[in-house]
Parts: sequence; C-alpha cells; structure tokens
Amino acid sequence: MATKLFIDGEWVPASGGSFPTYNPATEEVLDEVGFASSADVEAAVEAARLAFGSPAWRDISPVQRARLLFTLADLIEQNSAELAELETKDQGQPIGISRAVSVTGAAEHFRYYAGWVTKIEGSTSPVSFPSTLHYTRREPVGVCALITPWNFPLMILAWKLAPALATGNTVVIKPAEQTPLSAIRLVELARKAGFPPGVINLLTGDGSIGAALVEHPRVDKVSFTGSTEVGRSIVRASAGNLKRVTLELGGKAPSIIAADANMDAAVGGNLSGGLLNSGQVCAAYTRFYVDKKREDEFVSKLAAGVEGMTIGSGLDESTQLGPLVSDEHIARVEKLVATGVPDGAELVTGGKRTGDRGYFFQPTVFAGVHDDMTIARQEIFGPVLSVMSYQDDDELQSLIDRANDSDYGLAATVWTRDISAANRLANGIRAGAIFINMPPVPDMAAPWGGFKSSGWGREMGPYSIDAYTEVKGVWMHYGE
Ligand code: NAD
Repeated sequence: MATKLFIDGEWVPASGGSFPTYNPATEEVLDEVGFASSADVEAAVEAARLAFGSPAWRDISPVQRARLLFTLADLIEQNSAELAELETKDQGQPIGISRAVSVTGAAEHFRYYAGWVTKIEGSTSPVSFPSTLHYTRREPVGVCALITPWNFPLMILAWKLAPALATGNTVVIKPAEQTPLSAIRLVELARKAGFPPGVINLLTGDGSIGAALVEHPRVDKVSFTGSTEVGRSIVRASAGNLKRVTLELGGKAPSIIAADANMDAAVGGNLSGGLLNSGQVCAAYTRFYVDKKREDEFVSKLAAGVEGMTIGSGLDESTQLGPLVSDEHIARVEKLVATGVPDGAELVTGGKRTGDRGYFFQPTVFAGVHDDMTIARQEIFGPVLSVMSYQDDDELQSLIDRANDSDYGLAATVWTRDISAANRLANGIRAGAIFINMPPVPDMAAPWGGFKSSGWGREMGPYSIDAYTEVKGVWMHYGE
C-alpha cells in the first residue's frame, strides 16, 4: 500500500514513481513509497474540491461528523501497537515515546476535536441599524493542504487533521518524505472510519509536492509545520489566491536557571526538555543561562546525566536516545557542533557520531558558550546543549534581553522558586509558550505556536477552530 496515494477514497498507484524510506537505526530501506506527479496533485485537489461541496460531507450533521472523529480515535487506539512500532522504525524515536506521546497524543487529539464539533457556535452582534438582526456563522475554509515534518509525523498530522475535519474542511495531506509511513497508516484507518471519498487525500513525495499544493489556486489554506526557511517560501508562494496560512516553525528555546532553583529538578527537566526525541523537538531547551554561582554544579550534573543515557535502537525498551532521522540531518548536526570549539566553547562531553551503523549522535554539552556563537543562535535540532551564565546581580531585564536576542520565539523556560521573578521573566520573554519549572509539553487544550520567526498563528484548543474556519456575518432586516 505504501507505494500508493490516497485520492478520492481509493488507494491509487503514484504516477511519479517511488522512493525509499529508511530505518535510521539501521540505515536499511524500510519501505518504498509512492512519488506523486503533478497529475496526482491535480487529482487530489480536485477530489478535495468536489468533496467540499458534496452533500455527503457538507450536509452531514455535527453529531455524525463528531462520530467519524471518535471512530478514528478508537481505531488509532485499537492499532496503537502497530502504529507505535511503525513510527519508531521510520522516525527513530524510542518506542515508549511513540506509544505515550505520538500515538496516544494523536488519538486524544481526534477525541478532543470530536468534542468540539457539536459546540462550534456563532454569536449575535449588537449592530446599530434599526430592525436588523446580525449573527455570525463559522464556516470551513475549504480545501486545506496539511504539510508536516519528520520529527513527530503522526502526532503533528493529528494536530492538523483533527481540527480541519472537525470544522468541515477537506484536506490533502503531504507528510515529510523521511517519515511517511504512519501518515499512510492513519489515512487507511480514516478510510475504515467512514469519511466520505475525497474528504481526506494523501500525496507522498518531496518538498516539490508541498510547493505545488501551496501554489495551487484551488487550495484555500495551508497548515505547515517545518523549518523557518520553508515557512518563508510558503508565505511567498501562497500569495496568488491569498491562502489562509498557519505556520509552526523552528525554535531555539532559552532555559534560565536561577540561583535558588531546585538543581536536581532543573537538571532532570532540562535533560528531558533538551533531549526528548534526541533533541529533534521544535520547543527543545537548547541555550541555558545559569546563575554564575550554580554554573559548575549545573554543567557537571548535566554532563553526568547525558553520559548516563542509553543510546540505541528505538525498538529496544531501554533506549532513551534513538538515532537522528537521516544521513542528511546527522551531517548537518555534525557541522554545527564542529563550530563550537573553534568559536571558543568548551566541549564538556559528546560531540561525535556513535555506533557502527545508524544515525546516532552522542548527547553533547558545551560550557562557556557566548550569546553570539553559532551553537547559541542556530537551531541544531539534535542532542546539543549549550550552557552560558549570568551574574546574579544582573538585572532581570538583561536576562530577558538575552533570552529575546533570537529570531525565534517558540518556547522558553525558567527554573526558580521565586514566583515574582518567574512571572516577570514569563511576561518579558517573547515566546508562544513559557514553562515554569517544567519540560516543554504540548497539550491539545493549550495554544501552540510561535512569536517572531517561529511561526504564524496558533494551533490547538479553540485556536485551531479559528484557524480552520472563516467567520461569516449575516444581516437580516425584519422591519417594515
Ligand atoms: P522542512 O521545512 O524541511 O519540511 C517540512 C515539510 O515541508 C516536509 O513535508 C517537506 O517535504 C515540505 N516542504 C519542503 N519544501 C517545501 C516547499 N518549498 N513548499 C512546501 N512544502 C515543502 O522541515 P523538517 O526538516 O521536516 O522539520 C524540521 C523543522 O520543523 C525544524 O525547523 C523544527 O523546528 C520544525 N518544527 C516545528 C514545530 C512547531 O510546532 N513549531 C514542530 C515540529 C517541527
């Protein structure tokens, strides 16, 4: 099935050939996947267009639409073991993460938005015209292109697909070429759940397929998660028909560790916050500002923590750090890490590839880092932690300024027992999510998205209902 595309309710051969997807723990080909052609793009968009206007989808009741989403959530759970194994083999993440974060997160997302379907309301507006009623309706945007990255392929697709369907849109999905398998399996489960033909379509292939969707005049919205560079190109390419665009992009989250922090909790929370999925997390904590008085303690405990981690295949239950996703990505991480020592940082531990095969990289700690070094500024998206310090007599404002000295603004964290300082930092740092004394976690009830070059708009919670609907105002004169 993997070599086929899903268009108009059927699995059809891809007319652009196929490409391999690899197991990053073994470097072996895991499967062959269909490569969509431009004719396939046309067919998928047309199917989504027709389904958008079809009574089978447009006119079903909210209760029926909610049932479809609930059924899909149940099917994800019934197939959770298979989905988790597939995600780990294709992406590399430890199987415990696949189960607890990726698969569970996807199922719960469908359930959460299934609950919303029957609660999407309009409002009446107090217009000043006599004998006039004004009310609003929330209507689906139309055909949505859902373009996803390789770090959490199943969960991030669920973040988009669940609210898009809950609000009555139709979709064309384009998963990342490095990790397409869980999306293919999810779409088959959606077929079984009974979504009408054309409501969900899936195209596999590289970025050119995403670009074709972004430029397509009959696509109404793009929801993209991926790199800031591609996000910028999407903004430019979507201008033709002024598509609605939401972007969840890169990050370089600062972590501030104050002198009064509970150091063991801070080290544990920053290890998981920095190294979950081998650091391939957009909100990962990557640049640390530690009070000078606790710097040595923090660095030595952080280094001891990473040195004690078990690296290996994600399928092994004891693995804490799996491989990086691809040959290309590990080469990029290696190149960025190689700038650390020449730039003047101290390499405390790690810094190299490890293992005979597979894309494994040692968890790496740099100390003595400065704000202007490449490792402190660029998103590495790997297991690399860069430690800087601040003087305890520094004003909070200068810490805020240093935390904000970045193009990104996705997440930030503060470790302190002083609630006043925590709140002042939380208010001053320009990021979409601030975590106080905890690792970065997404939750379907809380907004997710970035300030500055970390994105446009917010997903999750009621924000996704906004992101996948248009507001229509209806005016009615009822007087003589
Ligand atoms: P990427 O931008 O290279 O690719 C993402 C997707 O876009 C893939 O499906 C790809 O095929 C497609 N694509 C590539 N070029 C395109 C184009 N010109 N037009 C349309 N689509 C195109 O990103 P990646 O390397 O897969 O993912 C890593 C990046 O994603 C990191 O920067 C990370 O921070 C970011 N990310 C952000 C979030 C968030 O919620 N903010 C979550 C996860 C990942």
